[in-house]
Amino acid sequence: PTNYLVSRLSHAADSTPDKVFATRPGLSDVTYAQLFAGAQQIAQKLLSSGLQPGDRVAVQVEKTLEAVQLYLGTVLAGGIFLPLNTAYTGAEVGYFLSDATPRVLVCDPTRHAELTPLAGNATVFTLDKNGAGSLTDDLPPLDPAFQPVTRGADDLAAILYTSGTTGRSKGAMLSHKNLASNSESLRDLWRFTADDVLIHALPIFHTHGLFVATNVSLLAGGSVVFLPKFDAQAILDAMPAATALMGVPTFYTRLLDDPRLTLEQAKNMRLFISGSAPLLVDTHEKWEQRTGHRILERYGMTETNMSTSNPYDGERRAGTVGFPLPGVELRIMDDGAKVAQGDIGVIEVRGDNVFQGYWQMPEKTAEELRPDGWFITGDLATRDADGYVTIVGRAKDLIITGGFNVYPKELESLIDDIPGVLESAVIGVPHKDFGEAVVAVVVPETPDLTLDQIEAITTTQLAKFKQPKQIILLPELPRNTMGKVQKKALREEYATLFA
Ligand code: ATP
Ligand code: MG
Repeated sequence: PTNYLVSRLSHAADSTPDKVFATRPGLSDVTYAQLFAGAQQIAQKLLSSGLQPGDRVAVQVEKTLEAVQLYLGTVLAGGIFLPLNTAYTGAEVGYFLSDATPRVLVCDPTRHAELTPLAGNATVFTLDKNGAGSLTDDLPPLDPAFQPVTRGADDLAAILYTSGTTGRSKGAMLSHKNLASNSESLRDLWRFTADDVLIHALPIFHTHGLFVATNVSLLAGGSVVFLPKFDAQAILDAMPAATALMGVPTFYTRLLDDPRLTLEQAKNMRLFISGSAPLLVDTHEKWEQRTGHRILERYGMTETNMSTSNPYDGERRAGTVGFPLPGVELRIMDDGAKVAQGDIGVIEVRGDNVFQGYWQMPEKTAEELRPDGWFITGDLATRDADGYVTIVGRAKDLIITGGFNVYPKELESLIDDIPGVLESAVIGVPHKDFGEAVVAVVVPETPDLTLDQIEAITTTQLAKFKQPKQIILLPELPRNTMGKVQKKALREEYATLFA
């Protein structure tokens, strides 16, 4: 009997305890032995505060190594780790706390007074941006007789709330096996070994930074350059001694804006990975010109961990998310049947990566998770003759105007290619005759871009029903911390244009 997930993540701690897990600019290095010792002490503390197997530990803290130890310590203690976006307000956290009824809440000391009344019966600890607080200040001494709490493959290790891009966030229940199996696949596919040094600049309240980046590094026995947040200078400084970077597309566009990004600076790197939002073909191409590296794009969700990836050795095809991971089945469906090759449908996936359902939302779970294990992702995609999957948007963003389907991605790709355009977002807004009207929100790259230049293309290249009824120029698109364009916010902003 063991702790299914931590027994896998701690292999390197057992075999190479003195190896450095994390370097931190301006702070001391942390070895594998130190990482897991601290995790165990936190586990001991959680257990002595009464944590029972299956209890939730809700966490809203800044990114620190101690927060990583809290994740590992929670799982070691048999608990369910439940991280929350640091951007959430007190009222928002209050909703998650009443939904998740945690046994323990760990929050920043600056929020202690505000959140304690919302935490119900939870024990509240603090942890600040330097890793100090009532959680870590008086940790019990390391107990040599400590045994990880036994947890099996199907027990829950985490509940992660989705990003809330399309509506209210849902808590995805993830088992030990969901997390372990996916990280093992990714380590092998992306060839992570003990020699790797990953630049870790992603937040750890989201699947990308918490599971993909952290678990893959731990499983490989590699090390990370642990950065509290995205910082172009710090990432560029780290590159000569690093081998890999995982980022959201905005990491790559911001790094491209920095003249210090050069072939020379990226010489030691072997792999750049992007996900969480679509990477523009333009970004992919510019990155290759500047650094000599082709970014490897992959696709995943909170509910499924990672589902597809471009190949490590084969062609990394820009604009696509590659192939299903080993052990992941993927099909593209429309009206209950698989679509013909090249046609658009909704991605469904099945495998050990797929979550156990939405926390306390049995109806939502039943709608999206079929009894035979297929999960309906809500993402629209096509698959080409070579098997590459291309995401064309979310089913919820599909525009139906006058009875015709308009896929925003088709227009966005066309508009993005117009000289002087940086990027665009195409949305549907209510319209009294058409049901919905197509609206294009466009971010200029050059100040002299005119609406006429855009219309010259859209009116000649698109069928009448697809043509935007209005084009709006904006200095930038609204995005969340993961770089996801907030189309919901745009739809709300322009809801009354034709009403
Ligand atoms: P919510 O489910 O609450 O509306 P969300 O779907 O944005 O929010 P996440 O689970 O963080 O929450 O994001 C998963 C989604 O991100 C996917 O369903 C997909 O739409 C998008 N995504 C992830 N990777 C990619 C990618 N490489 N290309 C395009 N889209 C991607
Ligand atoms: Mg989602």
